Amino acid sequence: MADIERNVIPVRNPRTGAVDLDLVVSSPGEVASKARRLREGQVQWGARPIAERVAIMQRWLGAVAAKAQTLAEADAVDTGGCHTSYLQGFITMGNIKGWVEDAEAALERARYDGPSKAMSSVEVRSQFVPYPLVGVISPWNAPMMLALLDAVPALFAGSAVLLKPSEVTPRFIAPLFETVAQVPELAAVFDYVMGDGRAGQDVIANADLVCFTGSVPTGRKVAVACAERLIPCFLELGGKDPAIVTASADLERAATAVLRGAVHASGQVCFSVERIYVDASVHDEFVALLLEKAAAVRLNSDDPRAGHIHPFTFAPQAAIVERQIADAIARGARVLSGGKVETIGGGLYMRPTVIVDVTHDMAIMRDETFGPVLPVMRFSDVDEAVALANDTSFGLTASVIAGSEEEALPIAARVNAGAVFIQDTFLTFAKNRTIGTHSFGWSGLGGSRTGPDSILRFVRRKALMTQHGPVADILDDHHLGRPAA
Ligand code: NAP
Repeated sequence: MADIERNVIPVRNPRTGAVDLDLVVSSPGEVASKARRLREGQVQWGARPIAERVAIMQRWLGAVAAKAQTLAEADAVDTGGCHTSYLQGFITMGNIKGWVEDAEAALERARYDGPSKAMSSVEVRSQFVPYPLVGVISPWNAPMMLALLDAVPALFAGSAVLLKPSEVTPRFIAPLFETVAQVPELAAVFDYVMGDGRAGQDVIANADLVCFTGSVPTGRKVAVACAERLIPCFLELGGKDPAIVTASADLERAATAVLRGAVHASGQVCFSVERIYVDASVHDEFVALLLEKAAAVRLNSDDPRAGHIHPFTFAPQAAIVERQIADAIARGARVLSGGKVETIGGGLYMRPTVIVDVTHDMAIMRDETFGPVLPVMRFSDVDEAVALANDTSFGLTASVIAGSEEEALPIAARVNAGAVFIQDTFLTFAKNRTIGTHSFGWSGLGGSRTGPDSILRFVRRKALMTQHGPVADILDDHHLGRPAA
């Protein structure tokens, strides 16, 4: 809750529960003035040949590499830590390095320079005009990665970027923008503002294109605000991702993959496994294996780097997860492990929570949970498994684990999700720069953020067309459009 008088938002440390940071909120005037400054800088940035921008971004990569450890540690304080938070510096480097390698070729592939296929006397030339100012609004889970996933290709494309990170996890911003300051050409076109949803609205009011990552309710508001301004927006929203395990699956493999997919980063990942459908004939054996493996998972309460599960990053999320579990119990589900929020040293933790006897009447099978919860449901045949997997408002990712790839592939083809992982879970990172995908349902809207063509979201494509032949005469107009003899 913002302290309007002092214009600050208190930021809670997820490990200690203490407020250890006062976030100074950017006023609407500050957002507008930063947007103006970035627009001015973008004129030169967007006019540079792509090779020049790539060279500048390479210098930024060097600055990020020198600070990778500090960046990772700030991100880990924001989230509550765990091994993946400590890799965030390297993940950021991978993002920038990837576009250093791909940006020019991706833009080049989209270019057409040559004769028109419809009118051979006309020569066509392509021009890419970047959207001047891209607004990026990012969530509290994986804060640095999700702030940069869209910002980096937008910068390579020639846009300026104004970033609004979540008020819940703003600590990575200071070290990140120290690296940006080391590259003056970049600092002219990349900046941030701080605050809650109000600052997010101010970003939308000033941007030419918006990339939003967050929840469905906020995504809706963002889409409406962008529609009012008639500017494009790209939405990356929630998930309720299913995993299907067939009777012939290697159950050891399936339980290992499902457990990791559900509890990695405490389940606070948009593509976490949140629903598990298991063939009735192997259900009990699978659940026993899942419980055995879940028992070995440790909290990171003693040492942020040592355990597997970190505290809830956003304290209110713990209550949401508890409410869903209570609703499931009230409707007849049984909790076989975990299930309770444990307060340790001020942090709110939950151990892997295996729940059986669940149904689609329960919120835990319908709404995004965003916690380390594994609700397991039986199915009697593959048709039922597919119907259950598709009985959702979402469609971000899914997993199918079967006895063989040949068995899994036709099942995967029937599941409505932007990416389906076969014989494993949690393969989203394999998509980066490799393949673009589109979410189903409420999980997202707009062009893909993965795949090499994702950079094209940030440019308008223009055609410059020269007539080399005689011009058409209005008196002879009826010949136009006739197929050539
Ligand atoms: P959120 O509450 O929707 O917030 C996302 C961002 O929007 C935050 O920066 C938030 O600021 C800002 N915001 C709030 N109201 C706004 C408004 N009216 N206009 C503009 N901006 C506004 O999401 P979250 O709880 O931070 O993040 C968790 C959600 O993100 C989950 O649903 C998860 O599935 C989703 N997610 C999706 C993906 C994906 O790629 N599909 C990836 C990761 C996460 P404040 O935080 O300061 O209020």
